[in-house]
Amino acid sequence: MPRNPNNSKPCSYPNCGRPKHSRQLCVGHSSMIRRREDLRPLGRPKVTKVDANGMVHCPECQQRLSADSFRQNLASKPGGFATYCTPCVAKRNEARRLSRKAAQ
Ligand SMILES: [Zn+2]
Ligand SMILES: [Zn+2]
Repeated sequence: MPRNPNNSKPCSYPNCGRPKHSRQLCVGHSSMIRRREDLRPLGRPKVTKVDANGMVHCPECQQRLSADSFRQNLASKPGGFATYCTPCVAKRNEARRLSRKAAQ
């Protein structure tokens, strides 16, 4: 489906106001749909914080890693970094892939 750049209406979830991503919903809400979760209001976007030493905490491996270990996640979090470090993201993606495979 071609994207319509003139259609700048935000997410259709009440009071969400985030930019629309797909199916009339923002990134957060469309991923809830994909995960078959009930839609709930998204909190304020979490911006992964870089500390004074340029280190970012990864909640998955519980380590402080340099910001270089995090992919910047500009689509969903302007100016922010990915929630998890790149190796953890890869691990999580792999786990998800395997569980999807197992479910088939
Ligand atoms: Zn939304
Ligand atoms: Zn990590």
